[in-house]
Amino acid sequence: MRCSSANLSIFRSSDPMLRILVVGGGIGGLTAAVALRADGHEVSIVEQAIQLREIGAGVQLSPNATRILIHLGYGPGLERLGVRQATVRFLRWRDDTMICEQSREKVSERFGSPYYTMYRPELIELLAASLPADVVRLGAAATNIHFDQNQRPEIELADGQLIDADLVIGADGTHSMVRSTTIGNAPARFSGMCAYRALVPIDMAPPSLATQTVHCWLGPERHVVVYPVGQGGRFVNLVCVVPDPDWPHESWTDQASADQLRDHFADWSPILRSCLDAVTDPVFRWALYDREPLATWSTQSTTLLGDACHPMLPFMAQGAAQSIEDAAALAAQLRDHDNVADALTRYQQIRIPHTAKIQRLSWTNNTVFHLHDGPDQRRRDTAWATRDNDTWLQTQEWLYKNDPKAFS
Ligand SMILES: Cc1cc2nc3c(=O)[nH]c(=O)nc-3n(C[C@H](O)[C@H](O)[C@H](O)COP(=O)(O)OP(=O)(O)OC[C@H]3O[C@@H](n4cnc5c(N)ncnc54)[C@H](O)[C@@H]3O)c2cc1C
Repeated sequence: MRCSSANLSIFRSSDPMLRILVVGGGIGGLTAAVALRADGHEVSIVEQAIQLREIGAGVQLSPNATRILIHLGYGPGLERLGVRQATVRFLRWRDDTMICEQSREKVSERFGSPYYTMYRPELIELLAASLPADVVRLGAAATNIHFDQNQRPEIELADGQLIDADLVIGADGTHSMVRSTTIGNAPARFSGMCAYRALVPIDMAPPSLATQTVHCWLGPERHVVVYPVGQGGRFVNLVCVVPDPDWPHESWTDQASADQLRDHFADWSPILRSCLDAVTDPVFRWALYDREPLATWSTQSTTLLGDACHPMLPFMAQGAAQSIEDAAALAAQLRDHDNVADALTRYQQIRIPHTAKIQRLSWTNNTVFHLHDGPDQRRRDTAWATRDNDTWLQTQEWLYKNDPKAFS
């Protein structure tokens, strides 16, 4: 049972085949389904939404993620739909003074895989297109999990239907039902920040932003990341992070106006402001939460991946990338262990320390990126401006070279 369009040769077939149910058809759940089907498992996905979709925004995919997607056969699709990143530029908030510039070509070269920015709906479409239509069951919200006396899991859907499986994977995002039902809930931690996301058609954006460059303006208590996305680079994607300590906790996304967004950056860079002028209503904003790293992700026959087990602030652009790594690591462990429970134990032993480190560093960047002008900000800028690129690349090896295939 193989996906039609993918070259899946890095994953060898395992025997016996498992019946695996994935809860959630986001980037993590879809990648897991593809990787596990490539090993011969019978996989289905239940997704609560009535269609597979992602918010209309961008995502940066670093080499640790693109390496896996390329191994799964998505190289041509990434090249067609993604924008290869050449550079990332950190700029001062008010006047565009360059703090530092890093070559993403060198990152790609050194770590052996491209750095892309992508339009999320196109990434989801690419992943979903390689799965037969009957793999994904839409409009199917999982509401509970039951276990029989042998710990065999059974998922209950909102309409009362029950689906049993050898293994259930909770890829159901930060509010994960699978997590809270199997290992208990972990309280969310609010960063005090929210992110506005917007897309601007490329011909409405300042020409200097329509390049293969990620622009990142850093200022007091806020920052903005801008990069081109979409097949042919047809949009500029903006992620604008601002403080919002009074966010209503019961709702994590909210609609706002373009004017509200612009007000936050009234005295910022003229280039940035002219890009913000092209933003139209409605604009959406996300309250930025994470959770403390969890001690365990698994029972004997269930586990978690992606935001369900390691939600993180987006300040290293690694949430989706780590869900892709989880998928590959889980497939590798199921290949190497006859016993599901042993595979799940090894999977979490490998993944928890790695993702916990990224959760912690992403949280730290909430301070580092948002320094007020003054001695700390000047020290940060000088350190970044004077660091040797080769040394910096070496320090990123743990992140960008992490390869779940090597874990087995
Ligand atoms: C502002 C911002 C910018 C970001 N930028 C980047 C970036 O540049 N690079 C990067 O790698 N990451 C980035 N991230 C993080 C990234 O978006 C997430 O980590 C990633 O999308 C998580 O994928 P997932 O598949 O684990 O979960 P999700 O995308 O949340 O998918 C979960 C799926 O499960 C479904 N579901 C939920 N509950 C149920 C249920 N009970 N039954 C059935 N289905 C259910 C949902 O409908 C959804 O489809 C960013 C995040 C934010 C907020």
